[in-house]
Amino acid sequence: MPDPIDELKDVLAPIEDLKHAAEVLSWDQETFMPDGGAEARARQIATLRTTAHERFVTDKLGALLDRAADALDGADAEDAALIHVTRRDYTRARKIPASLVSALSEACSRAQVAWQKARAADDFDAFAPHLQRLVELNVEKAEAIGYEGEPYDALLDEYEPGMTTADVASVFDPLRADLVPIVDALADQPLPPDDFMRHGFDPDAQQAFGEQIITDFGYDFERGRQDRSAHPFTTSFSIDDVRLTTRFDEHFLPSGLFSTLHEAGHGLYEQGIDPALERTPLAEGTSLGMHESQSRLWENLVGRSRPFWSHYLPALRDAFPAAFDGVSLDAFYRAINRVEPSLIRVEADEVTYNLHIMLRFELERGLVQGTVSVDDLPALWRAKMDEYLGVVPETDAEGVLQDVHWSMGAIGYFPTYALGNLMSVQLFDQLRTALPDLDAQIADGDFGALLGWLREHIHRYGRRHQAPDLLERVTGDALQAAPWLRYIRDKYSALYDVSLP
Ligand code: ZN
Repeated sequence: MPDPIDELKDVLAPIEDLKHAAEVLSWDQETFMPDGGAEARARQIATLRTTAHERFVTDKLGALLDRAADALDGADAEDAALIHVTRRDYTRARKIPASLVSALSEACSRAQVAWQKARAADDFDAFAPHLQRLVELNVEKAEAIGYEGEPYDALLDEYEPGMTTADVASVFDPLRADLVPIVDALADQPLPPDDFMRHGFDPDAQQAFGEQIITDFGYDFERGRQDRSAHPFTTSFSIDDVRLTTRFDEHFLPSGLFSTLHEAGHGLYEQGIDPALERTPLAEGTSLGMHESQSRLWENLVGRSRPFWSHYLPALRDAFPAAFDGVSLDAFYRAINRVEPSLIRVEADEVTYNLHIMLRFELERGLVQGTVSVDDLPALWRAKMDEYLGVVPETDAEGVLQDVHWSMGAIGYFPTYALGNLMSVQLFDQLRTALPDLDAQIADGDFGALLGWLREHIHRYGRRHQAPDLLERVTGDALQAAPWLRYIRDKYSALYDVSLP
């Protein structure tokens, strides 16, 4: 008799191959594919994903999981995790009827076209029926999956396994109460000048500069590459082929620079997974929140710090002398850390960003619970923007229509961005204890110990531990907002020379 665990791995491996092949096609679609390829490409990706799904949800795999669980002697934690995670995915996938999967996919295709037009025309009413349909289908999906507290739990669980809506709200509510007055106080301060960021910057030179930095971080170009796309993303075809994309604004350097550092943080996570997990469902980051903790750690905690720029500003001056000759470290550091309440989430600074997320979380939770109606969204959006950030969009294009997520049917996704910000500081605090001279290392452009620590404590595990467990193992604590708030207060009271509430 073959070992049922080996048998299980043999069944799962080609399913992983199919999913990764679909990722290759979708990466190509976002980077190099000519527009004409769109229709055929959509079919090809759907075929691969459907095939992977069909091979996954069979009765045979269920029986094999049972046999593998019985054969487990309790000694091998990795095999136990494989069985546990696969069973979780399997149970979830089996609960969603095929008719609902195809209804959702069809509604998403229509909604995305409608959303693009609606946003361009600033016409929320044109998008509203599509959003209504997607909310209904998501509620149906939540009911099919099941939940203990509220239907939003079942949706959140897809992106942030192990966390409930109540967990998120219990962290967000006090955070918002503390953060709104901080933003208020900073919004009264004069904005540091950043005119030197708005020269002309050759995109190729920007790319070369960014690639030098992420090579120093430890991103391995032998096992990855960076290309350009309209919206930056990271995708993994295997642990040894993890791709980044970025985009460059010729007239605003921080846009491409920090998106490169951000995506590299995602890429380092995927490249750091234990090779033994390859071709299993464990070979990816454990949750979107944990993933975002990695990208934000490199982008903000490292990339927007003073020690970091004490090392890289001279190289930046060499690369772009016309912009940065005579710009001091202090002026540069202040310019990359401007705090300004603004309308658009993706352009928000690290202080205001979480408020954009909380607003979306509250609205989509209400939509799923039935306490918020789609028609009320534009007005609620404006009211919350005013209350949290003190700015109000004049158009829905700059308000409720700005994000792609809802049109993709992704409800329950938004909170993971803020969860990642909070986790990043909890992890960084732990790192500072483990590496007391971390700032000096960063100021030397030496990230070896930092990356080594992340590999050892986070990356290598892939999905072996759920994010809340992993965070607790590493920091001794559950998710908390207090460390992030302390980081923000310390950094920005010094930067703006103001005492913060
Ligand atoms: Zn990200």
